[in-house]
Amino acid sequence: MARIAYVNGAYTPLKDAFVHIEDRGYQFADGIYEVVVRVGGRFWDLDGHLARWSRSLKELSIAEPMSERALRLIIHRLVEKNRLGDCYIYMQATRGVAPRNHTFPLEGTRPSLVMTVKPLDMNKLNANAQKGISVITEPDIRWDRVDIKSVGLLANTLAKENAKKAGSGEAWLVRDGKITEGGSSNAWIVDKSGALITHPLGHEILGGVTRQAVIACAEKLQIRVIERAFSVDEAENASEAFITSATNLVTPVTAIDGVKIGGGKPGTVALRLREAYIAYNAG
Ligand code: PMP
Repeated sequence: MARIAYVNGAYTPLKDAFVHIEDRGYQFADGIYEVVVRVGGRFWDLDGHLARWSRSLKELSIAEPMSERALRLIIHRLVEKNRLGDCYIYMQATRGVAPRNHTFPLEGTRPSLVMTVKPLDMNKLNANAQKGISVITEPDIRWDRVDIKSVGLLANTLAKENAKKAGSGEAWLVRDGKITEGGSSNAWIVDKSGALITHPLGHEILGGVTRQAVIACAEKLQIRVIERAFSVDEAENASEAFITSATNLVTPVTAIDGVKIGGGKPGTVALRLREAYIAYNAG
């Protein structure tokens, strides 16, 4: 079945889904996005993703393209129209279409809203997690407001491309000697006492919706969480490491720049958290 996209009010075959060349998302990366997964008929952490969606828009003074209720309706409709079970939902809003000019367009320019969906293979994700991934470190050359989920992801794509070339699953970004986060995930280590360490919220990382849920899961499991920056050296000497994101859930990291972590095997704390996170969403 041909895939259907949502583009500014219309459900369109994906192959015909276009935006105008003067869309500010295309010319200035002047827009934001969210990725949500739907597994077992449930949208995981949809409330959290929609809250961050609104926050990102607000931080950039982009008007909400529509009410949250209408947005939820479109998400549901798009999944239905594509007759998908488990899937990823990608949603993006930009400041809209206007003659190219750095300053904001005239009042009344409507923001653009597009949405696409694609199938998700939970078995593949689980197999990936059982094996774990390796990561490489890359300099964090991004701007100073990466807490906004902007579509300006050039630095992330360059880092992730280097990771791919190195045969790794993620790039951990390093700023002032500290790991901030991954190219498209949050970064965690487990110290010798079994406590979790992850970079604190702020302008230097994206506040992951999964990160927040995993903190709640850890508290339930009585695992201590310390929100502080950690160095590459600390990471290489950690008992375990893992990443979190809506698309990778909790995925163990077994090596950093070729240095094995936890004997090069997925750690038990990471796998427990993964299970807890899945149970938290499965309801
Ligand atoms: N950091 C970055 C840079 C990301 O792109 C993502 C994935 N969107 C995350 C962290 C994790 O966020 P979430 O758990 O909300 O998917």
